[in-house]
Amino acid sequence: MQHPRHNVDTVNLENFLPEEHERIRALLPELIHGNGESQQSLIRQITDFRMVSMIDACIVVADELASHFCELRSSHETQIMEYFSLLNHLPIVKKSEMERVLLQQMELDDVEPEAAGEQFHILQKHYVMLELANTYDERLCADISETKVNLDNIRLYILSQLNHGMLAVRKGDLRNVLEIYLSLISYCCFHEGPEAGLFVLVNLLGRLDWKDRFPHKKALLTKLSGYLNRKTCLSSAKVLFELFTMPEHYVPADEKFRIFRQIVKHPAEYMNEFQLQELYFFAGNYPAEVTSSFRESILFFQNSNYYLHKCWDRIRVISVFLRLNLDMETYFCLLPSIEERVYQLGCQISMQNNAYVETLHADYDKIEKLFKKVEELSLTDSLTSLRNRRYLKTNIYHMIHLANRHRVPISFAMIDIDHFKMVNDTYGHAAGDHVLKELSRLITKDFRKSDLIVRYGGEEFLMLLFDTRLEQSARILDEVRIAVSKHEFVFRGHKIPVTISIGLAESLPDTEHEIDIAERIREADKALYIAKETGRNRLVLAD
Ligand code: GH3
Ligand code: MG
Ligand code: MG
Repeated sequence: MQHPRHNVDTVNLENFLPEEHERIRALLPELIHGNGESQQSLIRQITDFRMVSMIDACIVVADELASHFCELRSSHETQIMEYFSLLNHLPIVKKSEMERVLLQQMELDDVEPEAAGEQFHILQKHYVMLELANTYDERLCADISETKVNLDNIRLYILSQLNHGMLAVRKGDLRNVLEIYLSLISYCCFHEGPEAGLFVLVNLLGRLDWKDRFPHKKALLTKLSGYLNRKTCLSSAKVLFELFTMPEHYVPADEKFRIFRQIVKHPAEYMNEFQLQELYFFAGNYPAEVTSSFRESILFFQNSNYYLHKCWDRIRVISVFLRLNLDMETYFCLLPSIEERVYQLGCQISMQNNAYVETLHADYDKIEKLFKKVEELSLTDSLTSLRNRRYLKTNIYHMIHLANRHRVPISFAMIDIDHFKMVNDTYGHAAGDHVLKELSRLITKDFRKSDLIVRYGGEEFLMLLFDTRLEQSARILDEVRIAVSKHEFVFRGHKIPVTISIGLAESLPDTEHEIDIAERIREADKALYIAKETGRNRLVLAD
């Protein structure tokens, strides 16, 4: 089913609160390039929006920062980006490959990586708790607000600020969110360059609650993805994913699928397992539903399954990590959130299975229809549209034995055109074809649906007449023979004389024995031979 495309007004960020834009733009260079004391007062000036809502304030700030960073962006990736990518996969447990990467990262800006490791451990615990708990809980958060970090260590400071940002989001204190993020953005930009500042900005866009401002979110993300075009970096992966997860009202399914195709050009570690699972879950259903690309959707289903498996593993890791690192009370406080995740994953598996079966079903129906069509074609003679000999082989036994069981007599008639070779030789092969077609129409016209007429050879036809005694069959067939001889076969202005010879045999009901079909056909053939020998244009009964 294709979803109707919604018409969503696209907002123009250029005209959005122009005076505020102007004010922010004037303050930005100092915020981004300066460092130290003046930062806090600058941030306060920037976030001093009295006349507009905080979400609109965030939009203006994000829009100005986005343009600014994208102009500044250097082409080389800084090592901090690897650290940001690592944060997709928290908690990092001891003795894992991730831990090795983490220690390398810590060594980059710390003389005491061991101590930094300990602090990282506490901060990542908070990070995981905040990510998991989607409501604000005093108890959970008290501990987090009081944690002190080593401000000389850039990586620890970043993680701590991200935690505070998330905490402010949970509290719904948007002004505080903006302040925290602005200070982190300017800090990252100063120490690590615009690439890092840009990434934190994108992170902010992902954290905000957009409510009725989704068109603005889309406009911001689209602008950013335009800047990041053709580059597979962490920020571009995140921007695309944010666009991808917008409600379908704003980003319809076909657009999501285009975004999906762009996202998967990025390395997998730019996303966490849950994001990858979501992407492939969508992709597995979309082509199956819309483009019916079976092969492709199977591949996506496989990927989705793979990440589902990884998600289970991740939940297990998170759950074990929290049990080992939290006191009982806090752990139980978070348990419902873990259960919720498990439940969601369970739902996704069942939805996935349904979608998979539906796809299989739809494709099976299509294949079955095609198969029937091919079968029909393979059993039909293309020139005359009569059944062919293959049909005889596959269907005749069943029909005849059924007839015999019901004590129905069957007549076997073999019909052959007289001197057909001459028709070809005299009027050409096309004329011969025309005669065959015309004759087929003529001999089929007066028979019942239950009778079977088969193009047995080039110009030979086998006819089976059910529930008809020999005398009656002979009468009907002789009328056909006469009708053919009287019929005017005309091709390209030439009148072509045509006659047929017929050999007729009968099979009487015999409940004791099976009917020997081949033998009946041989008898009809023999009678036909006699008809030919004795002057043609005749009907001869078998002995
Ligand atoms: P007879 O009266 O003894 O049956 O003589 P005949 O010429 O009809 O018999 P023969 O078996 O010698 O020739 C049959 C001819 O039918 C030869 C072949 O080229 C022609 N033929 C078979 N299939 C087709 C076809 O599909 N189209 C055309 N135009 N000719 C065909
Ligand atoms: Mg012939
Ligand atoms: Mg013949």
